[in-house]
Amino acid sequence: MNLNEKELKNKFGKNISFHEGLSKYSWFNLGGPAQILFKPESVDQLIDFLKIIKNFHKITCLGAGSNTLIRDGGFKGVVIKLSSKFSYIKKLEKNILEVGAGTLDKTLSRYAAENSIKNYEFLSCIPGSIGGAITMNSGCYGDEISNILISVQVLDFKGNIFEIKKKEIEFVYRGSSLAKNLIILSAKLNVEYGDKNLIHEKIKKFAKEKKDTQPSQIKTCGSTFKNPKNEKAWKLIKNSNCNTISFGKASISKKHSNFFVNEGGASSEDIEKLINFVKQKVYEKHNIRLDLELKIIGETIKND
Ligand SMILES: Cc1cc2nc3c(=O)[nH]c(=O)nc-3n(C[C@H](O)[C@H](O)[C@H](O)COP(=O)(O)OP(=O)(O)OC[C@H]3O[C@@H](n4cnc5c(N)ncnc54)[C@H](O)[C@@H]3O)c2cc1C
Repeated sequence: MNLNEKELKNKFGKNISFHEGLSKYSWFNLGGPAQILFKPESVDQLIDFLKIIKNFHKITCLGAGSNTLIRDGGFKGVVIKLSSKFSYIKKLEKNILEVGAGTLDKTLSRYAAENSIKNYEFLSCIPGSIGGAITMNSGCYGDEISNILISVQVLDFKGNIFEIKKKEIEFVYRGSSLAKNLIILSAKLNVEYGDKNLIHEKIKKFAKEKKDTQPSQIKTCGSTFKNPKNEKAWKLIKNSNCNTISFGKASISKKHSNFFVNEGGASSEDIEKLINFVKQKVYEKHNIRLDLELKIIGETIKND
């Protein structure tokens, strides 16, 4: 069975939309429409949907969109955005939490602090969701999500659910070996208890460090490039004399050269031009090829 738009709308109602602009789902506030945007309200509904659309469409999953640039031509396929029903924190045992993939990192960090759970402090600084954090192996100040992970529950595009243990996943700096055809539904995380005051102090210290070194209240997806081994991407960019360049309304933050900014009115194409320009300048100056940390999805608008 492969239903047309009208039939899909009748079946999934408000959970499905067609040709909806995606800019509000990315921290850059940029991006064209998704052919199909699906916001499942339960795992069963998501399985039902995947079985209906089968392999007829390209599928991608979006978390909080804090690390994703969506191109101006939008996404020709299905974008799955987990609804608030996938945001939950459950204590399974004294030392294990189950956390829905749609839960915001900040919400989890707050819950951990209130319950005297240590090692979750760094999550207070990351504006994404748990699904995004696991895919990216997000972290800061010496911590990363893989350190507290036990396993993930995933759903493949055929509708099969299974659990993957941490030791079966290869985690690297800002990346994981999880296959692209898997939707993370939830994660089991390890719990260690600590002193509540120390946990709150650590969160405060991290917040101050972030405030002192990174811009806030801007349209950005954080670090654009990964730090090369033994180097800092922001320093390489700064030393390549390209941090004052802009394309349209896409520029580089004055506070942190690895943060690219939509000043308002930029296009995704402007951001990509800036990315390519900076990559080239850093290569010319330092003979280092920067790797993107940012994920880019969708199609460009063809002007022919
Ligand atoms: C101001 C700012 C500061 C930041 N600081 C940091 C930092 O200190 N450290 C750091 O590591 N990052 C940082 N980031 C980047 C970003 O917040 C992280 O990478 C974050 O973990 C991405 O989560 P997300 O839910 O927004 O993912 P998205 O951008 O929505 O997606 C990122 C990737 O994860 C995949 N994905 C998301 N959810 C799922 C799911 N449920 N199942 C399968 N795949 C999924 C997407 O397909 C995509 O490939 C910062 C970003 C901003 C804007």
